[in-house]
Amino acid sequence: MNETQLSKRLELAASFVQPGARLADIGSDHAYLPCYLAQKEIVHFAIAGEVVIGPFTSAKKQIQSSNLTDKVEARLGDGLAVIGTSDQIDTITICGMGGDLIARILDAGKEELKLEGVTRLILQPNNAEAKLRRWLIENEYAIIEEKIIEENDKIYEIVVAEPSSVTETYSKEDYLFGKRLRQEKNEIFKKKWQSELEKIAYILQSLDQSQRDVSSKKKEVEHMRETIEEEIS
Ligand code: SAM
Repeated sequence: MNETQLSKRLELAASFVQPGARLADIGSDHAYLPCYLAQKEIVHFAIAGEVVIGPFTSAKKQIQSSNLTDKVEARLGDGLAVIGTSDQIDTITICGMGGDLIARILDAGKEELKLEGVTRLILQPNNAEAKLRRWLIENEYAIIEEKIIEENDKIYEIVVAEPSSVTETYSKEDYLFGKRLRQEKNEIFKKKWQSELEKIAYILQSLDQSQRDVSSKKKEVEHMRETIEEEIS
């Protein structure tokens, strides 16, 4: 992967960035995503935000070696704190982190008014997708698109959200499986949840061998198994 050849996962996330967007890529590591979009002239201004010095330095070097210093800026800081009002950011990408962390970054950013003027969030959580979806719906976003892909034996979900004055009704299952993903229910979706069922079978086996009282935990896990079985049957 480099700034001209993204991973399938990041390429899919990049495909949701609209031409002319002013982008902040948070947790940008090598700044591949913003550099790719700037090189393709899809964006003319982007921030590559990083909280850790090592990845921040890598991002800076990448931007320099790609001759994109006039279009992409690496900034060191926590979450959306790297965004200033004058940047007029309208699109945020946050990829490759846990859904819980992404939700926390968005929550802190909302408190600091960093989401004002942002019209699109493109998020790729590595886990805890339900938590992230819940944050979005509870904070007046509409999930306009969701994708599920497989790359190098890993399955990833991408969630695209926009501010909305209409709060869509979400069931527990919609949060867990993704409302759009469960409408499509493609083969990768089924594969992901089949693999979750295998993990659950293993957990139940371990619980059965436990000496402690695990009845409530067992009930919870069995309920999850039923929910998944119903979804993919
Ligand atoms: N976005 C890239 C991708 O998807 O390939 C890099 C993902 S990497 C696994 C996660 C990056 O997020 C790390 O470089 C980490 O330092 C950064 N990160 C974690 N928490 C962050 C935060 N609160 N603010 C900014 N960056 C953060």
